[in-house]
Amino acid sequence: MTTGDVTAELQRLAEEVQGCTRCDLYRDASHGVPGEGPPDSNILLVGEAPGRNEDRQGRPFVGAAGQFLEQLLALAGLRRSDVYITNVVKHWPNQDNGRYRENRAPEPAEILACRPFLDRQIRLIDPRVIVTLGRFSLATFFPGVRISDVHGQVREHDGRFFFHMYHPAAALHQQSLRDTLMSDMRKLTEFLREPLTEEQPEARVQELDNPADPEQLTLF
Ligand code: SF4
Repeated sequence: MTTGDVTAELQRLAEEVQGCTRCDLYRDASHGVPGEGPPDSNILLVGEAPGRNEDRQGRPFVGAAGQFLEQLLALAGLRRSDVYITNVVKHWPNQDNGRYRENRAPEPAEILACRPFLDRQIRLIDPRVIVTLGRFSLATFFPGVRISDVHGQVREHDGRFFFHMYHPAAALHQQSLRDTLMSDMRKLTEFLREPLTEEQPEARVQELDNPADPEQLTLF
C-alpha cells in the first residue's frame, strides 16, 4: 500500500469515526477525535480518550497534557509532527449514569467497541514502536499488566516494539510523576537512538536499564 493509499484509508477511518454510533460516547461529544500524524510514522502514541479541549477541536492532546507531551517528545529529538497520536476511544467520555462527569475513564465496553478503529490504524500506519500512554492504553494491549510495574520498559510483541509510559495528564500536578515521565522518555530516546534491528531486540531492551549517558539527555 502506498503512502497515498494509507492517507486515503486514514481519512476514510476518520470520517467513519465522526459518524460512529457503536457506543454511547458520541451522544455527548462535539467531535470525534480519530488521531493525527504522518501516515508512515514509525512511532504511534496511544493515549486514553479525548478531553474537553480535544473534543472542541477534534484533535488529540491539544491541552496542557499535549504541551507536556510535546516537551517529552523534544527530549527524544522528536516533534509532534513526527509521530502519529491517537487514543483508545475516539469520543470524549463525559457522562456517568446521566450526569456530567468531566474526563471520566472509558468503560471496558466503550474501549472494546472502539478497538476496531485502533486496530485499523495500527495496520495502516504499521509503526515500529507503539508508545502506550497511561494504564488504559497499556491494558488495551496487555490486560492485567500494571503500569507501575512496566513503565519505562520496552517489550516486543507481535512483531512490534511497545514502550510503556504514564499518561502525561496524570503528571501535570505531580512533580514526581513528571520526573518519572521524563526519565522514561530518556529511556525511549536510548532505544530510538540506534537503528532498530530484528536481530538483537532482547539486547536492546536490556540496555534500557542502563542508559549510556543520561546527563547528556537532560534537555530541560
Ligand atoms: S468512542 Fe469509538 S466506538 Fe464509541 S462512538 Fe466514538 S468512535 Fe464509535
